[in-house]
Amino acid sequence: MATAILMPKLGLTMTEGTIEEWKKKEGDEVKKGEILFSVATDKLTNDIEAEEDGILLKILVKDGEDAPCKEVIGWLGAAGESIPEAAPAAEKAEAPAEAAAPKAEEKAPAAGTVLVIGAGPGGYVAAIRAAQLGAKVTLFEKAEVGGTCLNRGCIPTKAMLHTSEIYARATGSADIGIVGNDVSVDWEKVQAYRASVVEKLTSGVKALCKANKIKVVAGEARFTGPKTVVTNGETYTADRIIIAAGSYPIIPGIPGVKGNKACIDSTACLSLDHIPESLVVIGAGVVGLELGTVYSRYGAKVTVVEKMPGILPGMDSELTGMLLAKLRKDGLDILTSAEVKSVEETEKGALVKVGTEDGEKEFEAEKVLICVGRGADSAALGLEAAGIKADKGFIQVDDRLETNVPGVYAIGDVTGKMMYAHAAIAMGEIAAENAMGLCRTFDTASSPSCAYIGPEIAGVGFTEDKAKELGLDYKVGKFPTSANGRSLAVGETDGLVKVLVGSKYGEILGVHMLASGATEIIEEAALAIKLEATADEIIGTIHCHPTVSEALSECVMAAEGRAIHIPNKKK
Ligand SMILES: Cc1cc2nc3c(=O)[nH]c(=O)nc-3n(C[C@H](O)[C@H](O)[C@H](O)COP(=O)(O)OP(=O)(O)OC[C@H]3O[C@@H](n4cnc5c(N)ncnc54)[C@H](O)[C@@H]3O)c2cc1C
Repeated sequence: MATAILMPKLGLTMTEGTIEEWKKKEGDEVKKGEILFSVATDKLTNDIEAEEDGILLKILVKDGEDAPCKEVIGWLGAAGESIPEAAPAAEKAEAPAEAAAPKAEEKAPAAGTVLVIGAGPGGYVAAIRAAQLGAKVTLFEKAEVGGTCLNRGCIPTKAMLHTSEIYARATGSADIGIVGNDVSVDWEKVQAYRASVVEKLTSGVKALCKANKIKVVAGEARFTGPKTVVTNGETYTADRIIIAAGSYPIIPGIPGVKGNKACIDSTACLSLDHIPESLVVIGAGVVGLELGTVYSRYGAKVTVVEKMPGILPGMDSELTGMLLAKLRKDGLDILTSAEVKSVEETEKGALVKVGTEDGEKEFEAEKVLICVGRGADSAALGLEAAGIKADKGFIQVDDRLETNVPGVYAIGDVTGKMMYAHAAIAMGEIAAENAMGLCRTFDTASSPSCAYIGPEIAGVGFTEDKAKELGLDYKVGKFPTSANGRSLAVGETDGLVKVLVGSKYGEILGVHMLASGATEIIEEAALAIKLEATADEIIGTIHCHPTVSEALSECVMAAEGRAIHIPNKKK
C-alpha cells in the first residue's frame, strides 16, 4: 500500500510549514535517505529525507504551498500503485490549541480607549503596551499598584530568600573555611529591606504609568454591562476592556483553620513580627516550599504536609524527587501522601493532626501556613452583568485571550492558564496588542515554570511524564551538576539538567533543570523551543566556562551520545 508523506513537525511550537521545494518530481524513483523536499517555517528551513524506497506517486502540496503539521502532502509507493482517493484523516498535531490560531496580521493599530482592571504584572503591562500603541488607558486598582507579584508574591519572597540565604551561608560554611562568629539576624531590618525593595518597584510602576499617560483610578471596578464598568460611583465605557484581576489564597475547609489565629496565608507569612520557632506548611507547591525554605534557613522547625505523593506538581518528577531529598537533607521535614485532618488552637500556637500512610501524626506549631492553591479574584467583578463566561471563577478566554464577549480580554491568574507573573506579563502584552487591532496568541509551550528554592528548579516544554503520556518518540539526555565545574565551585552539586530531544528531527521537546541559577538559564531553552532549534544548534552554541549553563549543552550532547564530561551510555 502506498505510504503517505506527511508535513513534518520540526519543533514544539511549529504548527504548519511551507513546501519550499520538492527535490523529486512525480514518477521519480526515490531512495531511502535521499532528500525528498525542503520545508520552511517562519524560523528555519529543513531538508527532509525519504523514509523508504519507492516512486513519488503524487504531490498534494506543491512548492510554495502551506500545510499543517502531520497533514498528508504526497504519496510514495510502488510504480503504478493507486493512492487512496480521499486522504486519510491526518494525525492530530500535539501542538497546543493556541498554536493553531491565525498568524499575526500586520494591521495598523487602531487608536481608542482601553480600560484595564487590576494593576498587577498583567494589568500594568497591558496598560503600558496599549498606551504605547496609542490608546487612552484607564487602569483600575482596588488595592496596591503592582498586585500580588510586587507587593506580596514574587518580589518580597525573593528578597526574603536572598536575606535567608546570606544568613544560611554565613552560618553554614565552616566546612569550606568560612567561620561566621556572632552572626545574628536583625529581623526588623530584614523586614525593612523586604519592604524597601517592594516600595522601589511599586513606585517605579506608578512612575511608568505616569510617563505613559495612563489614568490610574484607585477603587474596585465592577461591570454593569458588557462594555461598562463602575468604580467609586463613576461609570466608564470603552470598546476594549482587559481584565487582570488576579487571584487570592484559598483557605481550605479543614476543621479548625478558619478563625484560628495561628493559621496564616502567604501574605501574612511574609511580614511576621518575629521568626516563629516552628512552622507547619500545608501544601508543597511553589509558594509553600519557598516560604518554608526561608523560615527553615532562619532556624524555624519547618514541617511541610503534602496530599500528593510528590512536591511541585506539574514539574518533572525525576527532578522534584531529587529536590525533595535535598530539602529533607537541608532540614525540612516533608511529609508526602499526607493530609491535614484538623488544626486546634493551643496556647503556643496550634496542634496539627495529619493522616499519613503510617497512621495519624501530630505536630505542634507556632504558625500554620496555608498554601493549598489560589482562586480567581473575580467574584466582585460582576461578570454576569457583562455576560462573561467563567468556570469556578476563572475567566474563559481563547488563544487570543479574548473572552466570549468580543473586545473584552482576560489575562494572568484570573484566567487560571498559567499562574506565574511572567505568564501574566506576556499575556498583558498580547491582550493589549489584540485590543489595539493586532492578532497575537499566547504560547504556553515556550513559557517556563520555576521555583526559587535551593537549588532552583525550572522547566519548559514537555516533562518526561507528559512525553510518555503522549507517546512521543524522544531521546533523553542528562547531566548532573556534580560534573559541572561552576556548580562544584559554588557547592551546588545536588542537581541535574535534563533534555528531551525528538528522535527523528532532533527538535527540543523539553528542558528541565535543578541547578543553581536555573531560573536564569531556562530562557536559553525557552528560546530554543520558540525558535524550533534542534539539538545541534544548542550543541553548536558556545557557552562561557565555567558556567552552570554548560550543563545544558552537555545534557543535549548526552542525548546524542556525545557528552564530553561524563561517560556516555552505551547504545
Ligand atoms: C508568595 C508568592 C510568591 C510568588 N512568586 C512568584 C515568582 O517568583 N515568580 C512568578 O512568576 N510568580 C510568582 N507568584 C505568582 C504571581 O504573583 C502571580 O502569578 C502574578 O502576580 C499574577 O499577576 P496578575 O496580574 O494576573 O494578578 P495580580 O498580581 O494578583 O494582580 C491583580 C490585581 O488586580 C486587582 N483587582 C482585582 N479585582 C479588582 C477589581 N474588581 N477592581 C480593581 N482592581 C482589582 C488586585 O487588587 C490586584 O492588585 C507568586 C505568588 C505568591 C502568592
